[in-house]
Amino acid sequence: MDARPKVAYFCMEYGLHEDFPLYAGGLGILAGDHLKAAGDAGLPLVGLGLLWRQGYTRQIIEGGRPVDAYPLNDHMYRRLQDTGLTVTVPIRRREVKARAWLLDAFGNAPLYLLDTNLPENEDRWITGQLYGWFGEERVAQEMILGIGGVRLLRAMGFEPDVYHFNEGHAVLAGIELIREKMEAGSTFDEAWQATRGQIVFTTHTPVEAGNESHRLELLEYLGAFNGLSREQMEQIGGNPFNMTVAGLRLARAANGVSQLHARTARRMWAQVTDAPEITGITNGVHVPTWQDRRMVSAASGSDEALWQAHQSLKAETLAFIHERTGIRLAADKLLIGFARRAAPYKRSDLIFRRPQVIEPYLRDGRIQIVFAGKGHPLDDTGKEIVARLVDASRRFPESVVFVPDYDMAVGRALTRGTDLWLNNPIRPLEACGTSGMKAAMNGVLNLSVLDGWWPEACRHGENGWQLGDGYEGPDPDAHDLEALYRVLLREVVPTYYQDRPRWIRMMRESIRSTVDAFSAATMMRAYVDRLYAPEAGSV
Ligand SMILES: *Cc1c(COP(=O)(O)O)cnc(C)c1O
Repeated sequence: MDARPKVAYFCMEYGLHEDFPLYAGGLGILAGDHLKAAGDAGLPLVGLGLLWRQGYTRQIIEGGRPVDAYPLNDHMYRRLQDTGLTVTVPIRRREVKARAWLLDAFGNAPLYLLDTNLPENEDRWITGQLYGWFGEERVAQEMILGIGGVRLLRAMGFEPDVYHFNEGHAVLAGIELIREKMEAGSTFDEAWQATRGQIVFTTHTPVEAGNESHRLELLEYLGAFNGLSREQMEQIGGNPFNMTVAGLRLARAANGVSQLHARTARRMWAQVTDAPEITGITNGVHVPTWQDRRMVSAASGSDEALWQAHQSLKAETLAFIHERTGIRLAADKLLIGFARRAAPYKRSDLIFRRPQVIEPYLRDGRIQIVFAGKGHPLDDTGKEIVARLVDASRRFPESVVFVPDYDMAVGRALTRGTDLWLNNPIRPLEACGTSGMKAAMNGVLNLSVLDGWWPEACRHGENGWQLGDGYEGPDPDAHDLEALYRVLLREVVPTYYQDRPRWIRMMRESIRSTVDAFSAATMMRAYVDRLYAPEAGSV
């Protein structure tokens, strides 16, 4: 008999491949890599998610501004296996039916996707847009994921030892586990206590607004109480019902996604009673997905071989950029990559803030920058950031490029074939920042604020560069901008143009120091030992 714990992994989004646009960003990519690592290790883990018929926004640029499009992704059905199983969840007093499809095409542990797009449903659009709607629809989606997900496990006959909620969207699965036990005769307190022994929880964002909460009245109206009373729901998630608070109070063990993020999260949620200690399990990336194979052999070859391998990846990336934008960048000039969600704390356009400093470098092309990133469809601030990046690309058409519709294909191209990966969030708001790991493993050197994973990896001047000194005080923009220019213009640019041997040495060290330490396989071992193991947790 397999003694390893059987795990049911719940997540709102999964990034397995660009042809399956079931993800928005880092959370989904992490979940996809988690399933691939579980598949590689042969772990008894299954994923549960939703089959987003429209996915996340396909964001194009029109008139200098981002415009959202939601094409139907019905091509996905051809690659999915019909399990023949359906579950129902009562939502707004109507029985909503969801069909379960199996996706296992990418070497991943089995992923079961619930789909409400059935002719008999009035509510067939619940699994339409990922993060496209507020409040009511979001809760309906979370009811399908959480309550429907548990019901699917029962229909499949899969008996998990551990339920892993990857972010708060899945916490209604905990309410369903409590309901089951109460129906079998337990009191609420007994049921909650027993359920807590089964759940582990991962929190992902130190940005307040990223932690969803809903009015109890809304949850009640939709049917999300699921047989529990208002008082019982409030005991678990508070009022308004905070999904992260609920996740913590439902779990026996919890983690943040880097060591720094865990510290920040412990501070942030210190007032939540009855919660386990938040430990740190640093994210990793699925190496075969994100590291180019040619880099693996080149990293152990001569300097010349490593540089040639890098230059051929760079040539491919420049061709990719040309194909997507019509812009041809130079192969012999420094190319900075910056691909991130357009959220204010990430400060995508920080580098442009002092034109008299940076513009001479952009004008003569010593510095080239390629940007990518979507603004959230309902966030005007994010869209404004994208518009500013597009504007910069128009002012410096030979050295600044914006690649629209950031997805896994864009991410792969940019984290392989740029020279330098820039990351300048306001510390400590970047929980991890896995794109930097992808870059590092491909010999693309990181220049980053000491946030997320980077304090764990950075040895300044040896495998990349730190920007600033871990500053968390007032006016971080002025402080970090100063540091950015100082390191970029006095260390990075001179090394690139005048000390190529040192640059290559740093590339080699970047690959060596990250490829095992920040792989999804390493991360998975930490989850197995420190979260999934029955003795893990402090409740
Ligand atoms: C890796 C990746 C992310 C997450 O990277 P961050 O560093 O957290 O921004 C997001 N989107 C895509 C498409 C990715 O490939």
